Amino acid sequence: MDTITKEQRKAALDLMKANLASDSKFQTHLNACVRCGLCATSCMYYIAFKDPKYIPGRKVNLVSSIYRRYFTPEGKYFPSLFNARNLDAEMAEEMVDCLFGGCTMCGRCVKHCSIGVDVSYIVKKGREMLAVMGLVPKTLQATVDAAINTGNNMAIPTEEFVDTIKWMEEELQDEMGDPKANIPLDETNRHIIYTLNPREPKFFPLSISAMAKVFYAAGESWTLSSKYYDVTNYGFFNGNNEEAAKIAGYLYDETHRLKADKLVLGECGHGSRASRWEGPNLLKKAYDFEMTTALELMAEYIRTGRIKVDKTKNQTLCTLHDPCNLVRNGGLLEEMRFVVKSCVANFVEMTPHGNDNFCCGGGGGQLAMSEYNERRLKIGGIKADQIKATGAKIVITPCHNCVDQLMQINHTYKLGVTIKTVAEIVADALVLPDPASPHDNPADTAAETVADPLHTDSNSSK
Ligand code: SF4
Ligand code: SF4
Repeated sequence: MDTITKEQRKAALDLMKANLASDSKFQTHLNACVRCGLCATSCMYYIAFKDPKYIPGRKVNLVSSIYRRYFTPEGKYFPSLFNARNLDAEMAEEMVDCLFGGCTMCGRCVKHCSIGVDVSYIVKKGREMLAVMGLVPKTLQATVDAAINTGNNMAIPTEEFVDTIKWMEEELQDEMGDPKANIPLDETNRHIIYTLNPREPKFFPLSISAMAKVFYAAGESWTLSSKYYDVTNYGFFNGNNEEAAKIAGYLYDETHRLKADKLVLGECGHGSRASRWEGPNLLKKAYDFEMTTALELMAEYIRTGRIKVDKTKNQTLCTLHDPCNLVRNGGLLEEMRFVVKSCVANFVEMTPHGNDNFCCGGGGGQLAMSEYNERRLKIGGIKADQIKATGAKIVITPCHNCVDQLMQINHTYKLGVTIKTVAEIVADALVLPDPASPHDNPADTAAETVADPLHTDSNSSK
């Protein structure tokens, strides 16, 4: 980057000024970092490359040095004494490189910072400044544009999507031996509207039929939308909150249009976070319908006996990858283990796991930014080592972005494992109802409530 214009600098500084005036967290966390460097070894970029530019505190410092330069008297008059830097082309280039290309916003460093600096939050604020300067990587912006213009981030035409769903429905009917087994599209007044990651219709349609099988077994009243089914929201990563709100609004409006009681977010970490936990902030209104994740819904089905599962159907040794946005940033650590341990006979945890787990390397929009592919796969080596150490042959994760990254890691590091979603594991363990029995009230016909393994074995059922 040779230069940035006055207008670009002004737009970024105006945004910083507005954030400083309206968001006390921003100012507090900008000022809190003491540059001790203790967070260095928590970040997979630093671990993989040993380059100081990847130390999380350094990423905070990129943004805070601009704050000091333009918004503090000492930084204005004695910039070199107070580590205050001009927002020039060199700085903007470093920010793009480190905040977009050198951080998955996984939040692992936040747990390791002794004073709790929210590094990923500051990285997001830095991305917002780059967004108003028009410096979002083109690949990431193209993904957001596709979602806004077509309703899904892979720009899958509606006819192609409908064809895929019809094909999966025929397969489901054959497998269930029941012509009434279906994958409803655009039905109104159903209890649930279910959403998908566009990678499912495009590359992994079997995960759609896995969830359809779970709904069939539960006798659920549900539907998909043929137009607004995309659970992802890359507007959460490009730093443009208006675009993130627009994408979140598609699911909000579609839930209303189809008159569903509950929006169920398909297996996607960042999409679940963007809708469920950030959605009201983005949309500036509370949801007036229920919302949950597919993971929590499956946990509820198992706990209440609405579906029956038999863990002996899954004998292969399995491990679990915790998606950052569902576990460290979403609180679903125990729900995930309850579902998985109900459905597999042999389970082993990775080290570390849960809230301290390493990101797969595909978060923060990295999968959309092909210019950083080499970095992404290099940091994925940490996950590859974790998987190898377990000896597991199946890696389960409730996030299609993680699935994609894990499949690439599997190929690159020759792990020889199979990657599965939680719905696929649940579908494999299902004890199916007799097609001749009515599905009107499945809760009444469920055979038994499965014991909660969390209360019997908190670590491994191996
Ligand atoms: S983010 Fe926290 S751990 Fe890292 S350098 Fe700053 S104060 Fe130290
Ligand atoms: S949020 Fe994750 S990727 Fe970003 S600096 Fe922290 S540990 Fe590294």
